Amino acid sequence: MKIVMLGAPGAGKGTQAKMIAARYEIPHISTGDIFRANIKEGTELGKKAKAFMDQGLLVPDELTLELIMDRFTKADCANGYVLDGFPRTIAQAEALTASLKAAGDALDYAIDVDVPDSAIVERMSGRRACLACGGTFHIMFNPPKVAGKCDLCGGELSIRKDDEPETVQKRLNVYHEQTQPLINYYTAAGILKSVDGTQDVNKVFDDIKDILNA
Ligand code: ADP
Ligand code: ADP
Ligand code: ZN
Repeated sequence: MKIVMLGAPGAGKGTQAKMIAARYEIPHISTGDIFRANIKEGTELGKKAKAFMDQGLLVPDELTLELIMDRFTKADCANGYVLDGFPRTIAQAEALTASLKAAGDALDYAIDVDVPDSAIVERMSGRRACLACGGTFHIMFNPPKVAGKCDLCGGELSIRKDDEPETVQKRLNVYHEQTQPLINYYTAAGILKSVDGTQDVNKVFDDIKDILNA
């Protein structure tokens, strides 16, 4: 099963993608996580990406595509994957469609996690992330068992630099300009499904399971 998660920054794509990955035994591939891992390791790619990410801008398509196309060649992608944060531009979506098509393949679903902008800033200001394992929590909506510590690996939780309110507003603008057009793109492809992302985490996941099991 090949799934793309769509939605504004902070809509809950990552949270749901991790649940999908666990249940359907496919890898969760987050371009944001891969960029952050590269930044942490101080790689060339990380250095290039950081400048854009810190400003709330998208990393250029060329860099992003190089990274993700390499990831698809790994053995764990044989049975599909759930993509979180990719594609984010029409050019990226077209590149993905073309590369799948060349292999006689196609995506199964694009799932839009729909959350209005008014709810996003609240979500982002409470988000806490584990840099060690990619775990994501929320101080009110999904608190870790021990404050400041990752439930999954015990790692230190931190506030993402790009989750500050001014940067969040900029990322929302970038989302509306560059990423939201993908909703029409995947509607035209006949694979768009939409879920109400303002519900609680488990209810959103129930709706996604209904789509995937149909
Ligand atoms: P969120 O889940 O909050 O939307 P991500 O972790 O997906 O954030 O992405 C963080 C940042 O990484 C983005 O703001 C952008 O700078 C960069 N990024 C991630 N994926 C892509 C992509 N497909 N294309 C360009 N930039 C990306
Ligand atoms: P995205 O990957 O779309 O940027 P995340 O999955 O990282 O979003 O979620 C953003 C923040 O909102 C996190 O702190 C997460 O714990 C919280 N969150 C995710 N889903 C929900 C939900 N349905 N209700 C309330 N908070 C949520
Ligand atoms: Zn962790």
